[in-house]
Amino acid sequence: EAAEKYRAISPAEFFYKYREIAGFSSPARAIYQTVRELVENALDATDAHGILPDVKISIKRVDEIQEFYRITVEDNGIGIPPDVVPDAFGRVLFSSKYVLRQTRGMYGLGVKMAVLYGQMTTGRPVEVITSKSGFKRIYYFKLRIDVNKNEPVIIERSSWRKNRDWHGTIVSITIEGDWGRAKQKIKEYLFKTAIVTPYANIVALTPDDEIVYYPRVVDKLPSPPVEVKPHPHGVDLELLKQIISSHNYSSVEELLIKGFQSIGEATARLILQQAGVDPAKPPVDLTENELLSLVNTLRSMKDIRAPSTKAISPLGSEIIEAGLKHVFQPEFTYAVSRRPQAYQGHPFVVEAGVAYGGKTPLSENDKPIILRYANKIPLLYDEGSDVTTLVVKEDIGWDNYMITFPAPIAILVHVCSTKIPFKGVGKESIADVPEVRREIKLALMDVLRELRKYLSKKAREEELKKRAEH
Ligand code: ADP
Ligand code: MG
Repeated sequence: EAAEKYRAISPAEFFYKYREIAGFSSPARAIYQTVRELVENALDATDAHGILPDVKISIKRVDEIQEFYRITVEDNGIGIPPDVVPDAFGRVLFSSKYVLRQTRGMYGLGVKMAVLYGQMTTGRPVEVITSKSGFKRIYYFKLRIDVNKNEPVIIERSSWRKNRDWHGTIVSITIEGDWGRAKQKIKEYLFKTAIVTPYANIVALTPDDEIVYYPRVVDKLPSPPVEVKPHPHGVDLELLKQIISSHNYSSVEELLIKGFQSIGEATARLILQQAGVDPAKPPVDLTENELLSLVNTLRSMKDIRAPSTKAISPLGSEIIEAGLKHVFQPEFTYAVSRRPQAYQGHPFVVEAGVAYGGKTPLSENDKPIILRYANKIPLLYDEGSDVTTLVVKEDIGWDNYMITFPAPIAILVHVCSTKIPFKGVGKESIADVPEVRREIKLALMDVLRELRKYLSKKAREEELKKRAEH
């Protein structure tokens, strides 16, 4: 019998081997995914910090024989401190977004996947130029990832004095791609991104020397998300232990009040009484049984304030309507931003919009054009298994809204949350979570009711006109 060979692999090696699950399955998907990861980092570095985004993308073919493309994305965001750059780009699962705050990125994976893919297909390192506001210098790094160690390897670094207060980041990655196959998807991605970021300037130069430009059409930013503490309903044993070990709370009572949101003195007392734990006990002395009892009480506590919504950053109906108007010039537009709800201790907001007529393209035979978004990211793949598609197909009676397909109608659904229930790390579809599904249905019904009012008024007017002509 052959001996088993045991070993452990690093996160970098794992994602290098199973890159498909992060969207890097082929040169076509990889070039799309690279653009997407870089653009999303650029947008996170701007709008989440109150900066109106200016994003410049360039995709250039850099080899005559092989299909090597250099993808460069420049932003005017907050920049990255130089001591953090190597880990941000060279250590898989390193991120500034592992906090309770809505961002596009969440896994600490995206840009490293692109760097790894570049490394394995072209062997070229990533290049980063960055500076923060108020910094006197601009920093340059050229680096690669040591896959076995999951560590950055700096190949070159330098810095120079700044002569104006530029802040932002420029990232260049060279990968093997398939522009011909990816072109459509990348353009669709930029188009759909522009719809929900009408407050951004987005310009892209393609390998066909074409310029794709989405100018800023509104100056209003959604209010940036603010980091919050965990909600009691979302806690588990591990999270509780982490909170205890990373803080120095003197008593369990203090732990509850300061370590969580939505717990005041009175609630803390009640929880501790129900859990049978002494309020004065230092958290580090809690027994395993006490910890478990505390977790169970926290999770099932009724009459507790819903999760704080400061951490989420919905677009708002104005921005959605501006985006839809700009791209479709529809005869009718309407959008809603519903009130915050929660699932499993995570706050979420569902927003919906509808565009009808004008340049809105004709839909398919059984459903409208669906524009799906999660935390301001357009979702382009896996439409069939997404919760929004289920709602559109199963929960909405389109006849009731005077719609028979095909019709010139597009609907937009945006789910935002500190934790989107994505079905995979590629972030392409949202799972069928009952609370979320219900809100999507209600949001669509809200906008479709307005559309029906508009359509019936229009029908009445046409009827009157006809009668007047006879
Ligand atoms: P994620 O976006 O999920 O956090 P990434 O691997 O894409 O993971 O990025 C890692 C980290 O690098 C980010 O969390 C962020 O702190 C930093 N970063 C990447 N790109 C930029 C950028 N353009 N501007 C500012 N910070 C950036
Ligand atoms: Mg990212």
